[in-house]
Amino acid sequence: MKMFRNYINGQWVTTAKQFEDRNPVDNTLVGMVYEAGKAEVDAAVKAARAALGGPWGKMTQQQRCNMLVAVADEIHRRFDDFLAAEIADTGKPKGLASRVDIPRGGENFRDLADLSMRFPTESYTFDTPDGGKAINYGVRTPRGVIAVISPWNLPLLLMTWKVGPALACGNTVVVKPSEVTPATATLLAEVMETVGLPPGVFNLVHGFGPDSAGAYLTEHPDVDGITFTGETRTGEAIMKAAAKGVRPVSFELGGKNAGLVFADCDFDKAVAGITRSAFENTGQVCLGTERVYVERPIFDRFVAALKKSAESLRPGNPWDEGVNFGPLVSQEHYSKVLSYYEKAKADGATVVTGGERWQLPGALAEGAWVKPTIWTGLPETSAVIREEIFGPCVHLAPFDTEEEAIALANNTPYGLACTAWTTDVSRAHRLGSAIEVGIFWINSWFLRDLRTSFGGAKQSGIGREGGSHTYEFYTETRNICVKL
Ligand code: NDP
Repeated sequence: MKMFRNYINGQWVTTAKQFEDRNPVDNTLVGMVYEAGKAEVDAAVKAARAALGGPWGKMTQQQRCNMLVAVADEIHRRFDDFLAAEIADTGKPKGLASRVDIPRGGENFRDLADLSMRFPTESYTFDTPDGGKAINYGVRTPRGVIAVISPWNLPLLLMTWKVGPALACGNTVVVKPSEVTPATATLLAEVMETVGLPPGVFNLVHGFGPDSAGAYLTEHPDVDGITFTGETRTGEAIMKAAAKGVRPVSFELGGKNAGLVFADCDFDKAVAGITRSAFENTGQVCLGTERVYVERPIFDRFVAALKKSAESLRPGNPWDEGVNFGPLVSQEHYSKVLSYYEKAKADGATVVTGGERWQLPGALAEGAWVKPTIWTGLPETSAVIREEIFGPCVHLAPFDTEEEAIALANNTPYGLACTAWTTDVSRAHRLGSAIEVGIFWINSWFLRDLRTSFGGAKQSGIGREGGSHTYEFYTETRNICVKL
């Protein structure tokens, strides 16, 4: 059995209190996690503060970036360890984790280190009242100690998406992964140790929900900025904590993303695209679509085609070839998703397919399996349409006009992402301007160029990460004015 330790100031730290890490495939125990308390969080923040003025702070930008490239190389070298750890914690199929989670975990260090070498600052010359001149130029300094709080759905990818740029900008970090996915964060600490990152630059604390390490960390007065991905409700709690000391936050929060399918779409590509956006990673993708609006002339045909596609998904042991559908991440999340499956029935939904737990044979019978689910016929007021479920489920409804489709897509307090399927180029651009989201895909979904902005509008987030946007949060800009 594995024991997951905290990593503070370059030391591996155990504590008296432990909690379980379970595999959602069959509910077996993966390992025990040493829960960090207030004392450990204090020590981690103190170490991170001290490390800012140590060798890390004195390195050139190129030296720091070389270390981050070494981190990417080491993740690549230990690819199989990371893969096994991520699969044990989440149950996601090998094909998905080896194509998305682990490679992106490495690339987040390589790409964002590379970008940080090329990020410009502004400069202006101006005429002064005395007839002379002055120049202004901006310099960027690290923000300081950054608290990184990450979720369980793409554990390594979403954590490194923050740790990579934070370190590339010269900050130090204290990382708190989700309680249900502690493994790859712990492996990342091993990687940091192997490549020789100075002690205190990367610290890891494990915690268990509210009133634990996450809350202690975000309330800590010596943290200079908080970057968080998770539920909107947790974001609200963190924002309250950050108000004390007026600390900046960068938030990537929940969503209730719409998909729009127009009658002029490439039908087969739209079916394949919505199959991915609704069911990939068992629907546990913040960018996923849980409500899809289809233009009426193709509605029935689309429902039938998506049903066929959903029913072709194969659950099973994540290591088996051909398995492309995993369990939900935990028993707790399983109960939450099933409660929405019941709510849909109570609200009068037509269950096109699924709508219940998936009874798998043998050891898998104990796992957190639910069927990919399609509903029709719900009113827009149903909680199933309004609230984020974060499961493999989608409601399909017809629309008649482009204006109606836009209104339906925007009828939510969230604003993370939208995917639209049409071959009308002018319409595509009109939609791009009209839909209130941070990320809008036309004829695609989850296609990411790391140089572009990523984040949510409305209640789906604060700030943008990716490319040059990343540096708005991870650095402070200082203007220097020189009278010539
Ligand atoms: P949670 O908000 O439950 O947890 C996220 C992290 O916050 C965990 O590490 C959690 O710790 C920690 N946490 C919980 N309470 C507190 C607190 N009071 N103070 C500080 N930290 C705290 O999200 P989930 O892990 O359930 O992830 C799923 C959610 O993430 C979905 O809503 C999804 O939409 C969102 N998400 C958003 C993305 C985006 O880019 N917009 C991307 C991916 C996911 P612990 O696990 O110990 O409770």
